Amino acid sequence: QETLLSVDSLDVKFEVADGNIHALRDVSLAVEKGETVGLAGESGSGKSTLALAIVQYLDANGWVDDGSITFEGEDLLSASKRDLRSIRGNRIAHVAQNPSSSLNPSMTIGAQIRETIELHQDIDSDAEGTRRVHDVLEQVNLPNPAGIADRYPHELSGGQQQRALLAIGLSCNPDLLILDEPTTGLDVTTQAKFLDLVEDLKAEYDAGILLITHNLGVISEIADRVNILYAGEMLEKGPVEDVFTTPANPYTQALLATTPEIGADKEVKPIPGRIPELDAIPEGCIFADRCEFATEECRTGGIEMASVDDERDHESRCLHWQDVVDNPIDVPAK
Ligand code: ATP
Ligand code: MG
Repeated sequence: QETLLSVDSLDVKFEVADGNIHALRDVSLAVEKGETVGLAGESGSGKSTLALAIVQYLDANGWVDDGSITFEGEDLLSASKRDLRSIRGNRIAHVAQNPSSSLNPSMTIGAQIRETIELHQDIDSDAEGTRRVHDVLEQVNLPNPAGIADRYPHELSGGQQQRALLAIGLSCNPDLLILDEPTTGLDVTTQAKFLDLVEDLKAEYDAGILLITHNLGVISEIADRVNILYAGEMLEKGPVEDVFTTPANPYTQALLATTPEIGADKEVKPIPGRIPELDAIPEGCIFADRCEFATEECRTGGIEMASVDDERDHESRCLHWQDVVDNPIDVPAK
């Protein structure tokens, strides 16, 4: 396997009125070619920030403070503006979290897709351009491509907008597809179809996929590996089947206990306490205040990632990971 994307020890900060927010701390993540990697965590944990840091679309008050991002062997953080533009348009497609705000409201869907296609490929005739647009709309399973192409974003449903955005992303034939909450707001049936589509596309394009979602059900469905982010720190990572059946971090354990299966109407057991504020990060483990395994030791010094299973690249940022593994809690079946 070939590493497509490698994020190493990344720190991201935002400048705000009363100081700095340290939104990502020592975050590492890798995506191999042809692999679907899930990135999960509660709202505000930094998932979108990580995606935006990768494509260098962080808000103007944000910056990468430390660490590295390598894509296909190239250091993205030191790439020129021009190289970055070309990488973003040709090799990395970022489907942002909010489809309606990522589409241009004053251009038809067809015109937006065509613009992307023309940035990357020579189109010989108007008819060929139209055909390419219809092809890519068909690929994302939008019915009646000709009709959809002529519509403006507000004339589409949320699910259709999401597909349109994916079509724009795919029209550059990317090596890496970053999908930020692609199924939020979709009904269960549409969600399932969207996931099937992503699987098909992965097979067809042999692209790597970074799938961002707070929905662990979605990850269990299509991801190979998973990364669990909490308040800006990666707490656990590993193959989906390992992490979901043998979570080695109390946060992952609690998160799994709060996850109803896709479409199931199970009662959710909330995790007591709340996520810490990012402008006042406690010393020691970031989850200690909400953790039933926490000891004095957890509240001092930095806690490093520990290897749970070397061969399978399963890691947990927890001093008590062995206790956690030995004391499984009732986790809903996959
Ligand atoms: P969600 O699931 O709700 O999409 P997320 O995991 O994607 O959440 P982010 O949007 O990455 O979370 O935000 C992570 C943290 O960074 C939050 O505390 C957020 O308030 C903060 N943040 C994001 N952008 C900025 C900004 N431009 N300025 C200041 N703080 C920011
Ligand atoms: Mg987000």
